[in-house]
Amino acid sequence: MNAQKLSKRLETVASFVPTGAIVADIGSDHAYLPCYLVQQGIVSGAIAGEVVKGPYESALRQVRAEGLTNNIKVRLADGLAAVEQGDEVDTITIAGMGGPLIVSILEKHPEVLRSVTRLILQPNIHAKVIREWALVHGWAILDEVILEEDDKIYEILVLQRGAMHLTSAEILLGNHLIAQRSATFVKKWTKEIDNWQRILQDLNKAETTPEIQAKKEELQILIQLVEGVLSS
Ligand code: SAM
Repeated sequence: MNAQKLSKRLETVASFVPTGAIVADIGSDHAYLPCYLVQQGIVSGAIAGEVVKGPYESALRQVRAEGLTNNIKVRLADGLAAVEQGDEVDTITIAGMGGPLIVSILEKHPEVLRSVTRLILQPNIHAKVIREWALVHGWAILDEVILEEDDKIYEILVLQRGAMHLTSAEILLGNHLIAQRSATFVKKWTKEIDNWQRILQDLNKAETTPEIQAKKEELQILIQLVEGVLSS
């Protein structure tokens, strides 16, 4: 992967950035995504935020090597603190982290989100917590994608401002992804059910304590919920 040839995962994130947007890519690492967005003419300006010095320096090097220092500001900062007043950022991308870390980044600087109209989020795990956050904070899911690359399955959530209603199954699996019902979606959740079944079998062999009983019931509910979606 490089700034010219992104991974399928980051290319899909890029495909949801509106033309002419002002983007902040948080947790940018090599800044491949902002460099690609500028080079493809999708955006003319972007911010690459990184909290760790090593990746921040690679981002700086990459932006310099691509000759994009006038277009991309690379900032060493924790989460949305990379966005400064006057940047007029309207689109934020956060990719390659867990759902809970993405939510904690979104919650830490709510003032930055005031000018933002689109969030493109790619959690490696626990997309559910992002859907829960969106429901409570007035964001609606515009689109969702599930894809497989290098034996890993990724979800990408595109949020815009608005209200939505989601059932428990839709919070866990994603309403768009349920509707699309792709082979990758079925693969992910079939594997998940198998995993839960294995844990359940192990718990059935253990001595029953209130905690184990509660865990078993939780898993049974999850299995039922997902099996219900897959068989409908
Ligand atoms: N976004 C790139 C991608 O999807 O390929 C890089 C993903 S990399 C696995 C996650 C990056 O997020 C790391 O470089 C890490 O240092 C950075 N990161 C983690 N927490 C962060 C935070 N609170 N603020 C900014 N960057 C963060």
